[in-house]
Amino acid sequence: MQIGDAERPLRVAIIGSGPSGFYAAEHLQQSGLAVEIDMYDRLPTPFGLVRGGVAPDHDKIKSVTRIYDKIADRDSFRFFGNVEFGRDVDHDDLRDLYHAVIYATGSRKSRRLGIAGEDLVGSHPAPAFVGWYNGHPDFVRWSFDLSCERAIIVGVGNVAMDVARILAQSPEALATTDIAEHALDALRASTIRHVLVIGRRGPAQSAFTPKELKELGALEGVDIVVDPAELLLDPASAAEVETSDRARKNLELLTAYGARPRSGAERVIEFRFLRSPVEIVGNGSVTGVRLERNELVTSGDGSLRTKATGETEIIDCGLVLRAVGYLGAALPGVPFEARAGVIPNVAGRIVDRGEQVTGEYVAGWIKRGPTGIIGTNKPDAAETVESLIADARAGKVWEPTAATRPEAEARLWHNRPAHTTYADWQLLDEMEKRRGEAVGAPRRKFTRVSDMLDALAEAKEGASRPAR
Ligand code: NAP
Repeated sequence: MQIGDAERPLRVAIIGSGPSGFYAAEHLQQSGLAVEIDMYDRLPTPFGLVRGGVAPDHDKIKSVTRIYDKIADRDSFRFFGNVEFGRDVDHDDLRDLYHAVIYATGSRKSRRLGIAGEDLVGSHPAPAFVGWYNGHPDFVRWSFDLSCERAIIVGVGNVAMDVARILAQSPEALATTDIAEHALDALRASTIRHVLVIGRRGPAQSAFTPKELKELGALEGVDIVVDPAELLLDPASAAEVETSDRARKNLELLTAYGARPRSGAERVIEFRFLRSPVEIVGNGSVTGVRLERNELVTSGDGSLRTKATGETEIIDCGLVLRAVGYLGAALPGVPFEARAGVIPNVAGRIVDRGEQVTGEYVAGWIKRGPTGIIGTNKPDAAETVESLIADARAGKVWEPTAATRPEAEARLWHNRPAHTTYADWQLLDEMEKRRGEAVGAPRRKFTRVSDMLDALAEAKEGASRPAR
């Protein structure tokens, strides 16, 4: 009897319920093998960055969850929410219960700038701001003071575009999205009128995508400001633009913004390039950012890097959002490359000092780093699952000691805190949608784990109470 036969299903735990976890589950389901997949998440709700990261005004992107619903609907799939790896289940539990585990935990932390003043009040990692306006339970207690005139966003990636858009657009446009209520209230009271986006390299090296850049230009009541002089390219950048569709389109859009007359709109998003923050200035809280002008030089690997000129200026502001990338966090008992923030792997097989770690696999941002769009995770997860299946066929996976799924379940949940199921999530989903209906929004999220669990308990109690 082979692993993957009907009598001996391939049992896999997936840690993390974001896109890469779901695509790994889907690829397992489509493998033709008999599979039993248990997906774990530390939150009671699934979907990772699709729920906690995608901007509230990007509703279309979130509709990808319909595909995840179909994956979850199959008998081979179970969801265990409110279960944290390392706290509620650990490495040894998984070894007892599964043939293999796939870590798909994403990149939970934020990269730091490593400059003076980074921790002043009013200087925040942009991913925390994103989590806050999306009602992620990790960030509901954060407070963002929006009572200043100017915010500075460091970095020119798509997270920078998201936070610039959220800060600059009319809160009334956001009221009809699934934005967290606390964020909507704060944005309604915001006095920020000038959002300054800073790129350390030139416009040709911007990391944002044309679609996101174009979206800014369509915001009502917002002027986009670019100094045309900043768009003049050095020869190496000009050559880069020749070969990159994205860079060419970005430059075309920035050029069009630079040529647009100011309409006198109340809110402004301005871009400045070739400047690095060298200090966040303030006395207790942020009052400005010291920027140093850069030149571009070609480095050994052919990429264009910054070279500081020594010329600095301070720009006043009351809020700094550092949108310089996410960073993966280490998992207990799992190898980790701290600098890159990833789990070392070869085609999804975890390796420790060059040796494959039996039964352990990785997918998504924690495998390759925080790059790409949601769809990038599909081939990424497929590669991992192919490695896993090849190893299972060769008998090079764990041998679970629990003979059946119910036995595994009985062992795992003995003496452990309550977990949520996919049906629980669907109940929460319905409740959030009903709460949204009342205010003309697609949903109003529960933002605290305790509120989610209380609402579930109440709904179940109501359902089991005999009708009078
Ligand atoms: P990102 O795309 O890697 O952009 C990071 C930006 O920070 C770059 O401009 C980078 O400049 C800059 N940076 C890094 N270190 C810096 C430093 N020390 N000083 C100044 N600037 C610094 O990261 P992200 O914006 O967090 O996005 C993560 C991923 O999610 C990306 O793949 C993104 O496309 C995706 N995403 C997509 C969407 C969407 O599809 N709508 C929305 C959000 C995020 P250099 O290039 O010079 O390093």
